[in-house]
Amino acid sequence: MNQLRPILLLQALLLAIGTATSAGAADLPKVKLFTTGGTIQSRASNRDKLMEYNDGPKVTPQDLIADLPELKAVADVSYSEVSNVGSGNIDTAKLLQLAKGINEWLARPEAAGAVVTHGTATLEETAYFLDLVVKSPKPVVVVGAMHPFSSISRDGPFNLYNAVRVAASKEAIGKGVMVLLNDEIHAARDVTKNNTYRVDTFVSRDLGPIGFADSDRIVFYRNNLRKHTDQSEFDVGTLTSLPKVDIVYGYQEADRAPIDALVKGGDRGIVLDDSAASFTDAVKEGRAKGVVFVQSDRKGSGRVVLSEKVAARGVVTADNLNAQKSRVLLRLALTKTSDPKEIQRIFNEY
Ligand code: ASP
Repeated sequence: MNQLRPILLLQALLLAIGTATSAGAADLPKVKLFTTGGTIQSRASNRDKLMEYNDGPKVTPQDLIADLPELKAVADVSYSEVSNVGSGNIDTAKLLQLAKGINEWLARPEAAGAVVTHGTATLEETAYFLDLVVKSPKPVVVVGAMHPFSSISRDGPFNLYNAVRVAASKEAIGKGVMVLLNDEIHAARDVTKNNTYRVDTFVSRDLGPIGFADSDRIVFYRNNLRKHTDQSEFDVGTLTSLPKVDIVYGYQEADRAPIDALVKGGDRGIVLDDSAASFTDAVKEGRAKGVVFVQSDRKGSGRVVLSEKVAARGVVTADNLNAQKSRVLLRLALTKTSDPKEIQRIFNEY
């Protein structure tokens, strides 16, 4: 038995050297997961339940990582839990906490990228907000799922796996904040949730995805040329709140009452999602009180072209941003100025 001892010691030594020199977590790109909740972190009582799926205990960041041992070959993944809520509950405090947390992480030399889990309903708003306030060219990928964690064919794990692959990839540097579901990589500025229920819900209507997370590699075909991340003039570093901005929907015979109520309630800006005859006077009166109006359009794609008539009324046009994205940009623009000409410049550049 005693003769065996030196051999066992040698084996243990070789094993230790092997562990130290083979590719371990320390050699992999470091990606931090910022979790906020949503369907990707929800459980239902049955595997076939795709609605009302908040029955079980919430899926924690630890559960997400433990569920994907494949991540160990892609990145050294750490996490920070921001919240575990449906995306309808994401508010300014959480947005600012998330943005500051990501900026702190990406400023560290060892950080390669960040991934954010999020409910799909308002995912595009958070993604565009981050696109405007993250101060780094390092990749940030926002990811969600349409099927809960407990379902038969859940889409969350592959989406998350691919999101980490993108966040860890050199190709994704400088692409701004991206959204990944269904293997498609979309620019945060362009993407929108297009369908209430299907897994292929995220589309960039005017322009299409910027790339794909395919099994052989992460491949990009184009870039978002609008200003974002490290080129952006917006800084949330010292902010604890954001200006109040709401959206009013236009349709036949729409009442002006919502505009009047919002102006009275102290809104600094209002996005008009299309127009109505009664809006003209309401906007004129709101402008006189210093409220900034942005004209967006409910069609969901295409530009709102700047007409001389609209400019003369002091109304800003949204370019091809939908109303919810226009609201995100207007809130940040109002942290800098309330001059409609300057805000139009911002809408032309971002
Ligand atoms: N209700 C969910 C949310 O937005 C939908 C989802 O995550 O897909 O949080």
